[in-house]
This record gives sequence, structure tokens and C-alpha cells, in this order.
Amino acid sequence: MTESTPGPVHPTADAVAALRPLPLSATTVADDSLWGTWLRRNAVRTLPHCVSQLHAAGAIDNLRRVTGEADGDFQNMWFADSDVHKTLEAAAWQLARTPDDAELRAFLDTTAALLAKAQGEDGYLNSYYTVVKPEQRWRELHKSHELYCAGHLIQAAVAASRAGVGAEIVTVARRFADLIVDRFAAANDVDGHPEIETALVELYRVTGHRPYLDLAARLVDLRGHGLLNPEHFGAAYLQDHVPIREADAVAGHAVRQLYLLAGVVDVAVETHDGELLAAAQRLWEDAFGSKTYLTGAHGSRHRDEAFGDPYELPADRAYAETCAAIASFQWNWRMLLATGDVRHADEMERVLHNAIAGSTALDGEHFFYSNPLHLRTGHDGSHEDAPSQRLSWYSCACCPPNLARLMASLPGYAITTDDTGLQIQLYTAGEIETTVDGSPVRIAVRTGYPWDGRVELTVTTAAPITLSLRIPGWCPTEDVRLDGNPVEPVDGYVRLRRDWTRDMTVTLDLPMHGRIVRPHPRIDAVRGCVALARGPLVYCVEQADLPDGVTLEDVRIDPSVPPVAGRATEDGPVTLTVAGGVRTADSALYGSAIEDHTDPITFSALPYFLWGNRKPGPMRVWIPVAATE
Ligand SMILES: [Zn+2]
Repeated sequence: MTESTPGPVHPTADAVAALRPLPLSATTVADDSLWGTWLRRNAVRTLPHCVSQLHAAGAIDNLRRVTGEADGDFQNMWFADSDVHKTLEAAAWQLARTPDDAELRAFLDTTAALLAKAQGEDGYLNSYYTVVKPEQRWRELHKSHELYCAGHLIQAAVAASRAGVGAEIVTVARRFADLIVDRFAAANDVDGHPEIETALVELYRVTGHRPYLDLAARLVDLRGHGLLNPEHFGAAYLQDHVPIREADAVAGHAVRQLYLLAGVVDVAVETHDGELLAAAQRLWEDAFGSKTYLTGAHGSRHRDEAFGDPYELPADRAYAETCAAIASFQWNWRMLLATGDVRHADEMERVLHNAIAGSTALDGEHFFYSNPLHLRTGHDGSHEDAPSQRLSWYSCACCPPNLARLMASLPGYAITTDDTGLQIQLYTAGEIETTVDGSPVRIAVRTGYPWDGRVELTVTTAAPITLSLRIPGWCPTEDVRLDGNPVEPVDGYVRLRRDWTRDMTVTLDLPMHGRIVRPHPRIDAVRGCVALARGPLVYCVEQADLPDGVTLEDVRIDPSVPPVAGRATEDGPVTLTVAGGVRTADSALYGSAIEDHTDPITFSALPYFLWGNRKPGPMRVWIPVAATE
């Protein structure tokens, strides 16, 4: 990795953006931090697991069928090429950080060579529409995912280009992108699954080739005009129900909506389109005002994998797809860069530490696709749509390689910069090394975050920079201390402009008390319940932590007693000890006076992201409040 390896999303110098990303290479995460364990697990377990599953599930062989190196029927989903592309992207980001990984390098090189061989003379590259349905090429865009797959190929190429690994994949992606520009630049066609929009803007950023940006802008504005055959999906599912500039509510398939919005922001900042950015901001207010789970997840409905109505946020039937959580993280990063609004960093932190982190098992080789906030006692977890435990792979395998590419590039999302200095957006122990106005800046960050709220930063630079420290939205600001003194954040940041020439250390203390969280009264599904949180982490209660004979659904909580945090140990996270009761009355299913008497108990809650790592069993985030009579 060179000193200036850009990470994901790197607006051009001409883009209108409040903040800029630091290069991926600028931030090193400490191995013994929580992020450090995630990054290492991703590198040594998840990424190799994805590579082996691409072979086992037939995705590599699908491409080898194009080249004549394999025979037999096409395997799995018609868009399985995208699993290969996402894994390639993950490999490229990982190789930027650990270039000596020979096995990963071999995967990248051999797969890039396979893609080059599978690519048509004209640049077309899609195994399903080459092997199975050649006569339908570009003819069933409402369901073909051809541009979706192309988008992921392009994103892999962008990562490879920025990381300086694998020129062949860049050549392949550009040939395909050029064909797509030829085919679509003047056509009234869009893809049923957004993704190509953000990918083309990123390719423009890497190459400076304006037709990629122009096509992305065109594809954004063509949506909502009924161009796609709604067949049995419906227009909202396909993100074709309303022009984006007129939309005032997120709707339809959550992943498609959120990928589209990432592309919308990319186009808006590169084309200086304030109206388009305003549309994204309007939709953000809708999504995060009434359609987001406490864990940061999106998508309340299994049917159509869709957003629901405002405040329709059932805990047990949450679809909350992992890919939607990742898409939300990516969209919020773009919104943060575009606007500088701290709320986007808050949402990145929330979704990363809860919905995203919770989708991977401790072993790094099992994953949730849907991420419910309540797994009921007696749940039938036999279907992969809502399994009781993480599975090693899925027939629709979009989520695991998506996790791999996000985790491999995670350090690129922690810090931003602007003309005044640096902004610490997401806290992790590690080191930042960069330059501001040509002057080197080095910041050592020592913290046990998110287990501990103390963050010590030692700053070394001759530059007169402003160092901005984000004060998270979950944080009661009256309890925040800087070097032991109360501080008043402005717009969500404490901004420090000092003479840093003497290796100055500043200490930020964020209060890490266990908290009781109450839902908006309109969320009927969890009315009468509260949740537990500490720092950025949402907590849950698992059956495994309850006394024998107690059923999870009978547990009540006494919200007047603050939850008490334990200590983080080498082998365990910080748990919360909670006061409550267990329901003892035997009630009919329906009656005129339901008994809800409880006997007192104390129970333990653990971070939501760690649930389901023991034997499968019930879990819940929202706990009913004990009757006070
Ligand atoms: Zn997915």
C-alpha cells in the first residue's frame, strides 16, 4: 500500500463535498482492538471461506462454463457472478493492507484471468446470459441483474486500481463499462437492481473518463418513469415507482433503495447537483426518522425484502438484511462526506457495531442474512429465510462477500479531512498518519472503545490543524469530559485548535453507562418494551443466560433500576446486569384480565452483535416492562 492508497469512495477534487476521506493507508487499526479482531477474522477466516464457497457453490465453474473449462448446468442464482466480483473487491482491499498474502494474490490473479477469458469479444461479461440465455441479453433488465453484476465487477476493478493490484481486472471492467456506455448512453433502459450507478461514478473517479459519470447520472434520472416491466415484482421493488427528485419516502426492496441512494449522492457531488442531494437528504430523514431498527438495520418485511410503513418495525419479523445494513453504512459515508452532518457518522457507528457486526459469527465462517431483533421460543428456524443460527453460505449468497469487502476496507471509513484539519468520525485504537497542507500529521489513538469510553490521542504535527472529535449521538453531552473538564460540542464535534508541536495528548471521556432505550410510541410492535444499550452497542437477552425453567418471553424489566455494566475481560465482552421479573401467572391466550404478576429476578444482557454464538436459542432486544401495580 502506498502512502496515498485511496479507499472506497474517493470524490474528485472537483466534487462538491464538505469533507474528504483520508486514504485507506492513513489509518492503521490496533490488532488488539475490537476492530482489529474483526479485520483479522475477516482476513484469515471470512475471506478464505468466501473463496472456497465460490468454488463449492459453483460460481467459479459458471464462469468456466463460458470458457469451455467446465461443463454441466449453471449453478445457483443467475446473478452469482456478483459473488465472485464482491470477493475480488474484498481481496483487492485486503491486499492493499497485507500485500504479502500469496494465496489471496493467487485468487485475485487467477480469477481476473478467468474473467478476461470469459469476456466476449465485444466486452460483454455475464456467465448466465452467456451460457443459459444468450438470446435474452439486455432484454429482461427488470430481473436480469446484468448491470448489477457489472457494477460489482467495476467496484472490484476500482478497488484493484486504487490498491495497485491486478491491472487485468481493471482492463476487463473498463472494456465492459465501455460496452455498457455504448449500449445505454442514449437508451431508455435501466436495471431492476441498482448498483451500476455508484460503480460508474467510482470508475469515473479512477479514470477521469466523463462518459461513465454521464451514464450514471442518466440512469439515476431514468428511474421512476415506468421503464421496467413490473411483472410480479411491482415498480417500488424495482425502484421505478417515482423519479428520485420527487420521492419523499424510502420504499420497496431495501437493498435496491439504499444502493440507489449511494449512487444518487455520488452523482450529486460530482455533477454539483444540489437538487439531487436534497432528494437524498429528504429520503434520509424518512428512513432514519421512522424506518430504521435500533440496530441500524433496514427492511421490515420479508415480503419483497422491503421497507415497511412508517414505524412498522416488528422485532421478530424484522427482515433486516445484512446487505441493507452494509448499504446503509455506505450511503451514510457518502452523505457524511457530502454534507458534514454528524448524524451520518452516528448512523454508521450504530449499524456497524450492531446489525453488521452481528451478522458474522465469532468463527468468521457463518452469517445471518436476515437479522431479527427477537428470535422467539419455539421458532421454526429450518428455512434459510429466517434461520435460528448463522449459516455457512446461502443459495442467494449476496451477504457474506459483501461483509468481506466492507471489513477489508473498514479503516478507510474512520477519519475525514477538510481545509481546517482532521475529524475523528469512528473511534478505534490505532494510528493515523497523513499530511495536511503538506505537513505530516501523526495521531496515536489509545482506547478500549467501545468497551471503554476513554480515548487518548497523542498528536504530533507542525501544522496548525483543527482536530475535531465526534461526540456520538447516544452520548449525554453533559457527561462528556475533555482532559477532565466539561465540554460543549458544536454540531456534534469538539473542535480543538492548538499548538501541536510538542506531542500533545488530549483525553476524551465518553460516558459508558448502561442505558435504557425507549421506542417511539408509534412503534406498536414494541410498545410497552424497553431496550438496553451501552455506548454504541445495543444489548440483548439470550435464553442461555436465564435460570433453568424461565422462558425468555416471560422476562420483564424494571426500567427504574439502571443496568450495571461488568468489566471487559480477555475472553468476554462487557455484559449488563439487569433487574426485572419473571411472569408467574398462567394466562389464557385471550381473556378480560390478563395476569402479569412477576417474581423478581436479575439477569444478564450481552451485546447484540454477539448473540447466537452459543447453542441456538431464543433472543430478544426489546424487553417488556414489568407491571408497576
Ligand atoms: Zn445480502
